[in-house]
Amino acid sequence: MPAPLPEELVDAFGRHIRYLRLSVTDRCDFRCVYCMAEEMTFLPRREVLSLEELERVAAAFVDLGVRKLRLTGGEPLVRRGIVDLARRLGRLPGLDELVLTTNGARLAALAAPLRDAGVRRLNISIDSLQPDRFRALTRTGDLGRVLAGIEAARAAGFDRIRLNTVILRGRNDDEVIDLVTFARDRGLDIAFIEEMPLGHIDEHSRAEAFISSADLRDRLAGHFRLEALGDPAGAAGPARRFRIAGSDSQVGFISPHSNNFCHLCNRVRVTVEGRLLLCLGNEHSLDLRELVRRPQGDPLALHRAIAGAMARKPERHHFSHSDEPEIVRFMSTTGG
Ligand code: SAM
Repeated sequence: MPAPLPEELVDAFGRHIRYLRLSVTDRCDFRCVYCMAEEMTFLPRREVLSLEELERVAAAFVDLGVRKLRLTGGEPLVRRGIVDLARRLGRLPGLDELVLTTNGARLAALAAPLRDAGVRRLNISIDSLQPDRFRALTRTGDLGRVLAGIEAARAAGFDRIRLNTVILRGRNDDEVIDLVTFARDRGLDIAFIEEMPLGHIDEHSRAEAFISSADLRDRLAGHFRLEALGDPAGAAGPARRFRIAGSDSQVGFISPHSNNFCHLCNRVRVTVEGRLLLCLGNEHSLDLRELVRRPQGDPLALHRAIAGAMARKPERHHFSHSDEPEIVRFMSTTGG
């Protein structure tokens, strides 16, 4: 008799895994300088999980106690059928929260359908409020479209919308105040993310572009009163969060370098080829696609494989500032 399935996913360090980030495509209409090479080779279609396969993977995780699901990519909104997928996932019994991370370029058309499909919260990435600089950082992006997307998202009534910003010294660090003002004036949250050493990039030196969250906080302190929000259980994930006094907006700092948060890790990722990544900063992975595509056999094989993999979740990542990537996969293939 096979061992009974656990009701929850718990790793060897006692961390409960309740959050899955599911990549629905490795493709993207942007080529952000810290995220991708300018010329990217994307996966052939046969290697990519179908919408139905993505749903089966997500359902297995929810059966095993995952309560929060984030759709990401690549750019999730370039995947055809994304709204239908969101609707189906939003109905999974036991799932508390369906959320999505996007570059915002297609939100003008898709924000309302996604909200209607059950997506509760959105993260929208934006690294500059200056059109030329925005184009340079994304290589292809049109700031006007993203701003229109943000307005559509505000009108669609999501529970919360958070802007995600990667700050690079010398490229956009002079916009920190403007970005926080932009977020606050629109009732949005904003998180500043330290650049992580994923994938080989050639446009800047990661070591030179690094700017710590503490540095950013100091810069903001002269302009905003930031009130620390406690989050002892790590429920909001790795962000250290502050409320901007006099507003409902929050500023978060995600600091994989300067403030390691691995002990609070409650998440795993699945890439669009069905690779279960147990840690953003380690290569440990398990091929779930083979199990999803296996014609017959144990109907719970996928569940068992996921549960068994938890024992291999590494204790922590060891990011450094070296210009050699520590992880060869880009964030876009990782499911950021
Ligand atoms: N396309 C969507 C977007 O733009 O948000 C979702 C995928 S994107 C990979 C998710 C987030 O990862 C974005 O906020 C992006 O800025 C961030 N990101 C990508 N590469 C990164 C890196 N090397 N270090 C830190 N953040 C990174």
